[in-house]
Amino acid sequence: MPSYCYFQGEIVPLENAKISVMTHALHYGTGLFEGIRGNWNAAHGQLYIFRLQDHMRRMKDGCKVLRLDIPFSADDLSRITVDVAKKCGFKEDIYLRPLAYKSSEALGVRLHDLKSDFLCFAIPWGRYIDTDSCRLAVSTWRRPDDNVFPPSVKATGLYINNALTKTEAIENGFDEGVMLAPDGHVAEGSGENLFLVEKGKLVTPATYSSILNGITRDTVIQLAKNELGLEVEERLVDRYELYTADECFLTGTAAHLTPVCEIDRRKLGDGGIGPITAKLKDLYFDAIKGNLPKYTGWCTPVY
Ligand code: PMP
Repeated sequence: MPSYCYFQGEIVPLENAKISVMTHALHYGTGLFEGIRGNWNAAHGQLYIFRLQDHMRRMKDGCKVLRLDIPFSADDLSRITVDVAKKCGFKEDIYLRPLAYKSSEALGVRLHDLKSDFLCFAIPWGRYIDTDSCRLAVSTWRRPDDNVFPPSVKATGLYINNALTKTEAIENGFDEGVMLAPDGHVAEGSGENLFLVEKGKLVTPATYSSILNGITRDTVIQLAKNELGLEVEERLVDRYELYTADECFLTGTAAHLTPVCEIDRRKLGDGGIGPITAKLKDLYFDAIKGNLPKYTGWCTPVY
């Protein structure tokens, strides 16, 4: 089934959406993206886009930082995204990739005096981390301080930091790397937020720990508090806690909720999926597939 892309004001076949080699964003990383999932619910015969407006609000915030002036509100961007998904017609899980970028064919390091453009395409996409017993390693690469570059801004250029981490982890035989914040506290994975379970409580690095303020992170926090009555601590997390926690899991739009079984060759719990992780994983998948009536407001139907 062909994919389509919203490109320069119209929806075109993906292979027709082409940019110039002189595009500013290609040279200086002056682009900003989102990762959004559409989740197919076979029983409903429906594709639900998860927390679409929240992703687009985050995108608009990032556009302010990068001075990307696109003539669309978060609602406009959401409508375009639904139109792209509908045009593709997929009846399976998909991934949507909106991108705002400095589109001028111009060289020179700057954010001013450049045109901006917006595109969005959809592709079928299954699992991102293909294991339920993820093995992590603390990365030699750190997340940037907010004054180096705000880590909650999904700038294309910033993702070289994440790519360094991911490749280091994979080439060393692990599934994912955990980056520390500049002050040495735990931050996050290369494309995921990190949670620990300690004595029945959920613990996760706070937004001031150089993390991306994840939408899946927020989803899990709400489900943990409201559905399981769990206490959730958002705070500074020591590296020591990675080795002594009872359970650990990663969250992200692409990675969903991925259980972690080992960190730096130290097994967590008995090495299987912990009981709290398992409950949250079930709730999370029910939520994104539109199976939790209380949370269907998070799910935008495509068809
Ligand atoms: N941290 C980083 C560095 C990421 O790239 C992502 C993926 N966007 C996340 C966390 C998870 O964010 P979300 O749940 O909003 O996808």
